[in-house]
Amino acid sequence: MQSWLELSISGKIWPVHFPPFHDEALTSWFSRLALFHFQVPSTFFMYNMPLRSDSWKQDLDVACSEDILRQLSQKCSQPYDKLIQHTFNYWRSRFDPYDGVSTALPRWITPTLIRRNTVHHHGCKLCILCLRQRPYLKLDTRLLFNIACPIHKVLLTEKCGRCNYPISSHRVFPPLFQVGQVDALAFCHNCGNDFRLEKSRIASKDEINLVRFCLDSLYKGHCRVGNVSLQYSHLFFEGFRLICRSLLRPRQREVMNHFAPKFDPSTHYSLRNQEIEFLALDDARQVLVAAMRLLDDWPIGFLQLNRKYGLSHSDWIMPRDIVPYWFGSVAKEHLRKANITAKRR
Ligand SMILES: [Zn+2]
Ligand SMILES: [Zn+2]
Repeated sequence: MQSWLELSISGKIWPVHFPPFHDEALTSWFSRLALFHFQVPSTFFMYNMPLRSDSWKQDLDVACSEDILRQLSQKCSQPYDKLIQHTFNYWRSRFDPYDGVSTALPRWITPTLIRRNTVHHHGCKLCILCLRQRPYLKLDTRLLFNIACPIHKVLLTEKCGRCNYPISSHRVFPPLFQVGQVDALAFCHNCGNDFRLEKSRIASKDEINLVRFCLDSLYKGHCRVGNVSLQYSHLFFEGFRLICRSLLRPRQREVMNHFAPKFDPSTHYSLRNQEIEFLALDDARQVLVAAMRLLDDWPIGFLQLNRKYGLSHSDWIMPRDIVPYWFGSVAKEHLRKANITAKRR
């Protein structure tokens, strides 16, 4: 006790230095620590990491530099090896084996900081029922394909039910900050609405299966699509995102309607430059489930639907796409026009 006090007073460790919850995102944990010290997260970061003050604006969950993690480990008296598990650094060698230094955000990880396009503002996702138990944000909800809570079997929420603002782990409702409220992440930073009082919506069986498969792939680092075993789960995520993106094109409307007859994003969005990550969660989940069902019996079911609706290689892959082999090889082998004609002969 005495040594802890000496360390705290000397400034070597912070007066409050609890560990993160087992599946908490680093940014969520850091925000909660800042609030316990009666400071907003950005100010607390700036004071404690003066040489790296810009890093808070970057994405610490995706690529937290080693020196920041070491400082956090020291200031909170937490093992470095444990803290790194609260970032995507932990899986980085699997995601990005050839370029470990890149800090670019893979497009299948959603941003923490609020980003805007013309029709949709992006924030963090959370399960209202999980939040009622403990007010923090989970790292794996940042996976683009994570749309439901497999524990409570309800859909995740990405916006405030009262004011429609996106949820953020970086921003705190000012009156809550002044009293140092410890559950501040459970409140909307724009209007102060308590997310825990909102109603949750039941997720479908397909949605839960999709989330279970993707989370399993994320944690194991590898997965199996039909008869194909993938060594790296990030290759699955890259290809899966391309399939989702393609399903939003007008040419694929029949395939989308095959799985989701009522799907009609054109009433909400411009069809130009449409990407799955820019869709609101309610629309995105329909596309994700359709894409997952396309993978049933891969690649036989996928090819049958392509034949049925007359689709070809260019309906799935654009010239600048970086395509993982498991998906690209099937499209190239079976859906290129030259190959299709040769087989017909
Ligand atoms: Zn939950
Ligand atoms: Zn609000």
